[in-house]
Amino acid sequence: MARIKIQGLNKFYGDTQALFDVNLDIKDGEFVVFVGPSGCGKSTLLRTLAGLEGSSSGRIEIDDRDVTTAEPVDRDLAMVFQSYALYPHMTVRENMDFGMKVNGFSPEKRSERITEAARILQLEDYLERKPGQLSGGQRQRVAIGRAIVKNPKVFLFDEPLSNLDAKLRVQMRVELEGLHKQLDATMIYVTHDQVEAMTMADKIVVLNAGRIEQVGTPMELYHTPNSRFVAEFIGSPAMNVFAPDASLRDLTLAPEAAFIGCRPEHLEVLQSGAGHADATVKVKEQLGGESLLYLATETGQDIVARVSGEDETKVGETVGLRIPDNRLHQFNAAGRAI
Ligand code: ADP
Repeated sequence: MARIKIQGLNKFYGDTQALFDVNLDIKDGEFVVFVGPSGCGKSTLLRTLAGLEGSSSGRIEIDDRDVTTAEPVDRDLAMVFQSYALYPHMTVRENMDFGMKVNGFSPEKRSERITEAARILQLEDYLERKPGQLSGGQRQRVAIGRAIVKNPKVFLFDEPLSNLDAKLRVQMRVELEGLHKQLDATMIYVTHDQVEAMTMADKIVVLNAGRIEQVGTPMELYHTPNSRFVAEFIGSPAMNVFAPDASLRDLTLAPEAAFIGCRPEHLEVLQSGAGHADATVKVKEQLGGESLLYLATETGQDIVARVSGEDETKVGETVGLRIPDNRLHQFNAAGRAI
């Protein structure tokens, strides 16, 4: 377990600045997810923390120790990558053993740790197999096992599930959450997938173009995004955000409101003429338990509403949409929440 403190971190690759004045505190035992679109600096932040990249300026502390210039091996971290990078000619046991052997651990210690990691990851029956004889999920578990046997203070995961199919990703997500509870370790996890972030994180760090946009619990980011960027990034389908126009009626807005937003699941679908705008259903996607209505207002603004699977609204029908007071988001011209 470990506390991490990042202060004023900047990172340049040549002339390109990848991180801008990053400040972040991570608590002991926290599961923190760095999320954001491709190229926003997530991997750079993780790699700088791991010591795989140097920082251009700023300070990194792990448990109050300044590790800003420390070598990766001296930081007591273990990293799990997207590509598992297992040694194909070695068995599962040998793959997990390799790092410990190189670092001169006793055979008893090594064996004990492998047994424990195999138990936690349910790999006991596969220890003598080679990676080629394992499924994708099992290979990913071996890669995690290699990190566990190091008994690190901090686990770093760089998009570890992106090579797996959708079903396995969900399963591994649950396994990782279980692992976090069991090990009680500080874990930092990088993904571009906001669903992974929402489901796994104690704390989400949203990055945008090299800057921290917002830090908060999944529910804080969902309910009180501090910018249009976070509002549209967190939640699926994304929040409806648009400039208020002539199709709206009876909606009281702040004078500086340049954009308004409402999540698809918070829109109320009423009779036409009721609520804040009329809109016509263009497409209806029935997903079983729920349906998505793709609508267009009289001024051509596209809106998505999520309704119950029992909802009987038909394509071509014009309905009224209401944004409940406490579900209305407003943003200024710079995209900041009002
Ligand atoms: P993410 O992980 O969020 O996709 P990265 O941290 O990989 O983003 O990249 C952040 C920015 O830094 C991008 O603009 C990327 O092109 C740039 N970058 C990353 N690695 C290097 C490198 N080794 N050399 C030059 N630029 C890099």
